[in-house]
Amino acid sequence: MNKIHHKILIACRGEIAVRAIRTCKELGIASVAVYSEADKNSLHVKLAEEAICVGPAPSQNSYLNISNIISAAISTGSTAIYPGYGFLAENEKFVEIVEKCGLKFIGPSSSVMQKVGNKAEARKIAQATGIPVVEGSLKELQTVEEALAEGERIGYPILLKAVYGGGGRGITVINSETELKEKWAITQAEARACFGSGELYLEKYLDGVRHVEVQVLADKYFNVIHLGERDCSLQRRKQKIVEEAPSRFVDGALREKLGSSAIAFTQAIEYENAGTVEFIIDKNGNYYFIEMNARIQVEHPVSEMISGIDLVKEQIRIALGNPLPFKQENIRLNGWAIECRINAEDHLNDFRPCPGIIKNIVFPGGFNVRVDTFIYPNYEAPPYYDSLLAKLIVWAPTRIEAIRKMRVALEQFIIGGIKSNIEFHYLLMHNPDYVRGSYDTNFINHFAKLVVEENRGE
Ligand code: ADP
Repeated sequence: MNKIHHKILIACRGEIAVRAIRTCKELGIASVAVYSEADKNSLHVKLAEEAICVGPAPSQNSYLNISNIISAAISTGSTAIYPGYGFLAENEKFVEIVEKCGLKFIGPSSSVMQKVGNKAEARKIAQATGIPVVEGSLKELQTVEEALAEGERIGYPILLKAVYGGGGRGITVINSETELKEKWAITQAEARACFGSGELYLEKYLDGVRHVEVQVLADKYFNVIHLGERDCSLQRRKQKIVEEAPSRFVDGALREKLGSSAIAFTQAIEYENAGTVEFIIDKNGNYYFIEMNARIQVEHPVSEMISGIDLVKEQIRIALGNPLPFKQENIRLNGWAIECRINAEDHLNDFRPCPGIIKNIVFPGGFNVRVDTFIYPNYEAPPYYDSLLAKLIVWAPTRIEAIRKMRVALEQFIIGGIKSNIEFHYLLMHNPDYVRGSYDTNFINHFAKLVVEENRGE
């Protein structure tokens, strides 16, 4: 590590802020927490060396308020900004301002972020690099007429996606020309409201796919490695809820292809830092690039568990100018890791968020059981942000042993006072189709209905 005195402003909240502060401490680097008025009692505020309030509860006024975050960094003498995920993590305008202020953004540069932020553009780059992409529109679509022409060329069903989309929002399945005419305006309005741009693109909708993504690490000296794949097919409304590494659907040969495609894309855009290249895999084992996420992902711990590499530490080391300390041939992937996202939500009532005061907590533990969280007894989970309370991660030599370990850990995980989806995960871990590995990205929607019916005694 070089000798400059570093201080990192952690521009996020929740478990990822706690995770980053811990890593800073291990590296001997001072950290500054930022918090909204609703988060003054949050764990990240207590753990960082310094903490600074950046505004009122709504994220628009605090965690998304660029001038407040930049002022917090400058006034505390911070030298770098760690974005975590969400909020400003993939906001190229923010990254550009950070750069202009002479601060180091712990992630890719604003120009690289611009390339991957435009998903239609990223598809073109992937295609030009020789990576398979799902058949789709060749350019960004501004009007319904353009979309209809492309729809006819590609054939229905199709997916209408926001060019600058993320988090599963602004994605609509379209089965016919009539449906495209009906849903165009509303999808465009949603894209404009969520992402500030109404530009859309089309992709052929592939049924029964699996979502598999590859973790990459790239330093500023053009060294790029991958840490294998994560399976994130268990999604509800395109939001991941359980992730595992490796994937049931990837064998050695496919892993090789996914890994080299992910590396080729990362190199093509001269990416620096940790990133994730996302693919879907169809029933016949064909894989297609869908996008790159230019940040740490919620599900990164499963890759850490099978590779033994601390991704947040590597993110910081890379940003400080260090070369990657390992080459591809040094990477050994071992065993199986599973992550369950423990959310404050009521799975029996359409997964309604259930914030509130947490009374008692008992965390599970034992050999290779990990809980990444920010909650503590009597903490009030605020209603303003996402409902993630904790990530429960287990590792075991084989998938079935990891499932058994996860069942025990869920059984021994108690969060009192508010509703959580612990029981939902527990039921899932016992579902024969899940255990057999017989599922795709639609599985959780069906399973969630089954759980509700069973609860009603149907
Ligand atoms: P976001 O950027 O909002 O996360 P993605 O483009 O990554 O959107 O897609 C989100 C999810 O939608 C994927 O994980 C996958 O389950 C599904 N998906 C994306 N593209 C396709 C496709 N062409 N066919 C079928 N499902 C898809």
